Amino acid sequence: MLLYLGFINGENMQIEGFWFYLFSGVFEAATIHYAVAKIFGPLIFGRGWCGYACWTAMILDLLPFKQPSAPRKRIGWIRYVTFAVSLIFVAALFLLQIPNTAGIIFWAFIIGNILYYAFGIILAIAFKDNRAFCKYLCPVTVFLKPMSYFSLMRIKCNDEKCVSCGKCRKVCPMNVDMTDNSRKRANGTECILCLKCVDCCPQKALKL
Ligand code: SF4
Ligand code: SF4
Ligand code: SF4
Repeated sequence: MLLYLGFINGENMQIEGFWFYLFSGVFEAATIHYAVAKIFGPLIFGRGWCGYACWTAMILDLLPFKQPSAPRKRIGWIRYVTFAVSLIFVAALFLLQIPNTAGIIFWAFIIGNILYYAFGIILAIAFKDNRAFCKYLCPVTVFLKPMSYFSLMRIKCNDEKCVSCGKCRKVCPMNVDMTDNSRKRANGTECILCLKCVDCCPQKALKL
């Protein structure tokens, strides 16, 4: 998608592309992609996109900080700022009737991706956490988190098998408390369905 739709076809597949095509009234690939992978799809498969398909995380997951060692920071509000910036940027293009918006939105795609990788790598190193960008900055999580709260697919814990050893929480890249079966489990909307917790459980108490 990044190479073919983005670089070859010149379609902005980032969030500003979604706003742009939505406001243009054009049903382009970015609109379909957001609807399926990031808005309505998460009602079924949660944040599977984040676990298996995101091209930003594809690079971030290569970094060495796979298990966060420090507790989460209370800076998740930054995602609403980046979300608002993307919306205001595209709205300004329309309201101010800027010419050549298609060209601008393509360059926004290139520059936006470079910024995502740069901030993602800096944050990962600073917080010793590959997924720090996902937890604090990514504007797409404003869609992903509330929708994945209701996800049909989620990790469940068999309380009769669990011996509370804590291994699952230790390997989780997203700080989820998957031993709590309620929808309000700690960081429940962060689960990327990577199944690391399932694989490491010595009691086979966890399943999707
Ligand atoms: S939170 Fe954002 S950057 Fe991270 S995997 Fe999901 S869509 Fe990609
Ligand atoms: S790894 Fe398995 S047994 Fe240990 S706390 Fe997690 S679910 Fe329970
Ligand atoms: S380790 Fe388990 S709870 Fe954590 S993100 Fe992966 S699948 Fe979700």
